[in-house]
Amino acid sequence: MSNINVLTIFPDMFNALNFGITDIAIKKELLNLNVINIRDFAHNKHKNTDDYPYGGGKGMIMTCQPVITALEAIENKGHVIYVSPKGKPLTQAKAIELNSNKDITIVCGRYEGIDQRIIDNYINEEISIGDYVLSGGEIPAMVLIDCLTRLQDGVLDKEAYENESHYNGLLEHGQYTRPEDYKGMLVPKVLLSGNHKFISDYQLKQGLKETFLKRIDLLIKRGINKNEAKLIIEELPNMKSEILDLIKDEESENVQIR
Ligand code: SAM
Repeated sequence: MSNINVLTIFPDMFNALNFGITDIAIKKELLNLNVINIRDFAHNKHKNTDDYPYGGGKGMIMTCQPVITALEAIENKGHVIYVSPKGKPLTQAKAIELNSNKDITIVCGRYEGIDQRIIDNYINEEISIGDYVLSGGEIPAMVLIDCLTRLQDGVLDKEAYENESHYNGLLEHGQYTRPEDYKGMLVPKVLLSGNHKFISDYQLKQGLKETFLKRIDLLIKRGINKNEAKLIIEELPNMKSEILDLIKDEESENVQIR
């Protein structure tokens, strides 16, 4: 079971996780979600958690005392994350890496963020869910929790998430369900053949093609082998030279593909 502690001033937002896979994981006790209201730890009379920034500027900053007191009260903090637009990008590879932590604590910022001293002294890692700014860390924290829950042992069949987009640096192939013929739009015949080898070759080819057309940056990063290049060229013969450029080995220039 993994344990995730979340520090927030809006604990009710996490009710959004009481649906689907995250709900099942919590009910099956595969995920322990401990949502902590930072405000409960504020020592001031009005339970304020923010104050004006030193040096001027618009907006408020979350103060040290309530956040640090809340953090210090957690016994099993584990890896402490601040969700922040300044953090390392959340990718599937990053999620797999983070999943090795049994205990994770996530601090959600609001306003203009949290006092830098909290980051410098209590945060192990800052994680961003993308290059844009949201109003608070609760949605990023939920994105991270959902993503980690899918990787948790016992939540999904390993095969289910290993074939999904991004797991192996590729996008997933298109998927079809019944009926075979909907208003003349047909399911590709190979998927009805029952031949597992043909089906997996076809799906790999479609995944490679999707990734080449939609996210060539992923293929540039991952590289492709000669067989994969051959499969994409079969689908996109006009793009042969661009596809061959993606082969990651020294012999690529001598490759003979049809
Ligand atoms: N002033 C901060 C800056 O410019 O970097 C942005 C603060 S933002 C309005 C408030 C909070 O939302 C942040 O403290 C952070 O917890 C969260 N947040 C906003 N965008 C995010 C993103 N892309 N990824 C992760 N967390 C984000």
